[in-house]
Amino acid sequence: MSTQTETHEFQAEVSEVLSLVVHSLYSHREIFLRELISNASDALDKLRFEALTQPDLMDAEENLGIVLARDEKARTLTIADNGIGMSREELMENLGTIAGSGTRRFLAALRESGGADSPQLIGQFGVGFYSAFMVASRVEVSTRRAGEEKGTIWTSDGSSGYELSEGEDLGRGTVVKLTLREGEEYDPYLQEWRLREIVSKYSDFVEYPVQMEVERREPKLDEEGKPIEGEFETRLVTETLNSMKPLWARPKAEISPEEYNEFYHHISHDWGDPLETIHLRAEGELEYTALLYLPARPSFDLYDPTVKTAKVHLYVRRVLIERDCEDLLPPWLRMVRGVVESNDLPLNISREMLQDDPRVRRIRKRLVKKVLSVLSSLLEENRERYEEFWRGFGVCLKEGIYYGEDEQQRISRLALFESSTQEGLVTLAEYVERAGDDQDEIYVLTGPSRKLLENSPHLEALRAAGREVLLLTDPVDEWMLERLTSFDGHPIRRADRGESLVEDEEAKEQREEKARELEGLLGALAEALEEDVSEVRFSSRLKDSPAVLVGDTTAPSAQMERLLRRAGHELPKQKRALELNPVHPLVEGLQRLFSVDPQSPRVRDYAALLYGQALIAEGATLENPARFTQLLTELMTETVSGGGSH
Ligand code: ADP
Repeated sequence: MSTQTETHEFQAEVSEVLSLVVHSLYSHREIFLRELISNASDALDKLRFEALTQPDLMDAEENLGIVLARDEKARTLTIADNGIGMSREELMENLGTIAGSGTRRFLAALRESGGADSPQLIGQFGVGFYSAFMVASRVEVSTRRAGEEKGTIWTSDGSSGYELSEGEDLGRGTVVKLTLREGEEYDPYLQEWRLREIVSKYSDFVEYPVQMEVERREPKLDEEGKPIEGEFETRLVTETLNSMKPLWARPKAEISPEEYNEFYHHISHDWGDPLETIHLRAEGELEYTALLYLPARPSFDLYDPTVKTAKVHLYVRRVLIERDCEDLLPPWLRMVRGVVESNDLPLNISREMLQDDPRVRRIRKRLVKKVLSVLSSLLEENRERYEEFWRGFGVCLKEGIYYGEDEQQRISRLALFESSTQEGLVTLAEYVERAGDDQDEIYVLTGPSRKLLENSPHLEALRAAGREVLLLTDPVDEWMLERLTSFDGHPIRRADRGESLVEDEEAKEQREEKARELEGLLGALAEALEEDVSEVRFSSRLKDSPAVLVGDTTAPSAQMERLLRRAGHELPKQKRALELNPVHPLVEGLQRLFSVDPQSPRVRDYAALLYGQALIAEGATLENPARFTQLLTELMTETVSGGGSH
């Protein structure tokens, strides 16, 4: 019999999370109980799941549950479950380290927020077990894993590490014993009424009984078991504190908004209330229930490329088959939280089988449709709330336009964009309506920021013609536009591509005439920029600026090129056309220079400057900024000293 005790240090992140939890969540202390009950309930789920294939792990008749016990004198509160338990290794891994790449990012986000949003952020992260230290000065975890003989005891005061020792005669499962901190603010956690209140507030829908021995004053009985009038005694009885009915299984009409919200907090770890709650029951050939939530704000891991799955859990006949089941919703709806239960799926369905199961695919299709229709009603009925959602999650929906074949057009109705002529965000439908019958195309321009796009030379002619242009500044817009090429039969046209946008016949003739006239100059400029541009031509899109770069309709846009390069892709240089403003005085000047001396080195210099400033105007970086500034300085020097090259 060994009673040896080993001492272990916490991983650095654990200490950091621990101290954050203890110091920033003191106004939410009571949630420690929710977290521990939720862990116990997960452990019972795991046992039930493993027992499907290993029936020896438990007795078929056994009652699974959670028991709370309090001892006011010793100042202890225990939370016991007869669930899966933990092996020694699992114990060390689970309660001594923090797994997951998200932790570092989370801690960074927390430091950045300067503590202001701590409860929100910690809530999203899921403080879990460590929240016990908000109320306890010492925590002891005695646990034995199902199927193993020996158990382990873990103890810690939450400062720097923990101790491990072997546990004798432990039952299967886990007992968490908290020694409460001194101070009257902690006393309520030893009182029956307070514990009862916390359980019913946060854990009512836990599917296993949460039981506690409570004192009950009852009439005293005589020898025959009949109540004696006027005489009472206090007896201890075991009471189940929660209703145990999973919320999603209850009729909608009986569920209060508070209950829906509480369940959301429970499964999402989000402290805020959800934006929308979707409770749906499908009947008929394939029956299932889904309780889904749309959060109001993005979680800190929304853009973590390793987190692609909506946190929606799949149950079959009350057994949790898979947490965060990736087959229930596509990655672009990964913000959704909730549960789906279908009794028409077999209990022994494996995780691999889920993917190919036609029933699961049908559920997924229906859920996607439902979420989209809820969003579409929100867009119609409460624009402000919808915009809040869009600001947080629009990027995901745009991914959906790229990936979501069937739903593409439906999602595009939900998309909001900035506009060159309107304040705020507009939908494609609103754009089309405003554009009226004589405009077929929808104009869009992509780039790094609204400000840059507003001042883009590409907008000049469109603006003069009174055309609205949608300004797209999310990196994902580039990918989205590859798929979204039309909306309701209106082609989507990129303002920085193709030969001409808005031009009447007369203007076109004049432009072509001018091009014939100045053929020599255009040729000389093109030659000077041979390495950089595909051609130099006159433009129909400029009013004030002298020059602009224009892509091919099929080539990737400048913004796409920048993004791909930034992501480390090697791309061949995409040559675009340099378009000149045929009526700009600069062009006249260049022509004079050229006609005097077609070989003048100044023509080359001006070509380089025109190209360089066109790049700057679209927010790009110059390949050779030193040469550009040198040319610019020479030119400025000539100008201020009254010289000039002509
Ligand atoms: P989370 O529950 O969010 O994973 P916790 O810090 O609460 O994080 O718990 C860490 C892990 O410890 C859990 O994922 C689980 O594997 C294990 N654990 C905690 N409590 C129990 C318990 N009562 N029974 C079995 N395992 C548990």
